[in-house]
Amino acid sequence: MRNLSLEPDRAEMIEMGRLVLDRVVERTERLAERPASISLTDQAEAELVHALLAPPPAQGSDLSALLGRLDTAADCALETAGPGHLAFIPGSGLYTAALAELYNRAVNRYGGLTSIAPAMAALETSVIRWMAHDVCGLAKGSGGLLTSGGSMATFTATVAARHHKLGEDLARGTVYITTFAHYSVAKAARLAGIRAAQIRIVPHTADLRMDPAAAAAMIRADREAGLRPFLLVATAGTTDTGTVDPLVRLAELARREDLWFHIDAAYGGFFRLTARGRQRLAGLQEGDSITLDPHKALFMPFGTGALVVRDLAALHAAYGGTGSYLQDSDSDDTILDAGQLGPELSREVRGLRAWLPLHLHGVDAFRDALDEKLDLAERVYEVLSEVAELEVLQQPDLTTVAFRYRPTDCSRRAAELADAAGYRLLDRINGHQRVLLSSTVIDDRYTLRVCVVSHRTHRDRIDEALDIIISETRADLPA
Ligand SMILES: *Cc1c(COP(=O)(O)O)cnc(C)c1O
Repeated sequence: MRNLSLEPDRAEMIEMGRLVLDRVVERTERLAERPASISLTDQAEAELVHALLAPPPAQGSDLSALLGRLDTAADCALETAGPGHLAFIPGSGLYTAALAELYNRAVNRYGGLTSIAPAMAALETSVIRWMAHDVCGLAKGSGGLLTSGGSMATFTATVAARHHKLGEDLARGTVYITTFAHYSVAKAARLAGIRAAQIRIVPHTADLRMDPAAAAAMIRADREAGLRPFLLVATAGTTDTGTVDPLVRLAELARREDLWFHIDAAYGGFFRLTARGRQRLAGLQEGDSITLDPHKALFMPFGTGALVVRDLAALHAAYGGTGSYLQDSDSDDTILDAGQLGPELSREVRGLRAWLPLHLHGVDAFRDALDEKLDLAERVYEVLSEVAELEVLQQPDLTTVAFRYRPTDCSRRAAELADAAGYRLLDRINGHQRVLLSSTVIDDRYTLRVCVVSHRTHRDRIDEALDIIISETRADLPA
């Protein structure tokens, strides 16, 4: 077999493109039938993984054969792109975003410095400004950065907060979160040089929200002890239950105490496009910085996060910098360099994968899809609330419904039996391979959760999920 040139000719490019596109379209069409979890035995999976660890050969091979191998690898996975994926926070991957990326990667424009591809930077900036202004409700002067995910967005914000509030005196800075904050928040603080002992876990109220009075007391006590409280992190849609912290009161507290107010809206932020979301996320516009995850509730492919900030200059102050080898590239004041707003320099024009779908489908398509998810979660809540054997934690703020077996009495032993039965229940539900649910621990109790975020999940799959959950609930009650 001859080796394919690094510069294939026109016929080769088209032929290869067809092969890839055919596979992708076929896979996308089959998503609804595909099992929600891995069908291979543990041994088959281990063998496949081992085989695929092989290094590349000196001589090239055939694209069809390689695509076959890719399909085998892609099949050995949770079907995260399918309608049955109700585990963790689903991210489904829009087809049109993938098309945008094919174009984007082929033209390979430089996304780190505005002057190298100013109009592409404008497209990306239009997406970020839309997120800052229209999605989050921030005023002029706000802006942000597209990142590889929510963790990077929160890290980028934490460093900016630290720079703005502490300067170079990090040792006494303290951060305030709740036990429901995503672990990326503590990781970001650690990466930003904040010691673990300086991270305060603020108590939550019975409805799983940060208690502003408790936060205020902790901040005061720390200040009196000579520490420097600098960052309050609220969550707008916790990963566990989709609960929104009391943003308005926390914003007031942060302002009063001169803390940077970061809101982790990785899951919840885009729901502000809907009327219900706007209500439930009241106060989102008060954040100094907000983490969003387009690869969750904007259905983008993984690797798409966003940070928006009230004052873009504060971000620039923390990340600005240049080198003499860049002296030929002008700096632009209208569209700040992405490379000067965060830790990365060379990068793709990350906004294209959102820009194309937003213009192609229109914003209302996304709004309607999110409204549908809110309806579906309400349905899950209503139906499961009627099941006597289950306790449903609370009415969902967003699209996560958390539930568990109701213990037969209020003893610790009964709770343990209910938790053990819940653990078996998850296995039985997922064993159908039509849906995938995941679990968490809330106030020391094993808790199952249904999280509806995919644009591919509709009423039919939710009703099927409910039938499976209810029949399996009754199949093996807590002993
Ligand atoms: C998913 C999630 C994160 C982490 O984002 P990544 O994109 O996985 O890095 C942070 N916070 C919340 C609330 C999340 O749901």
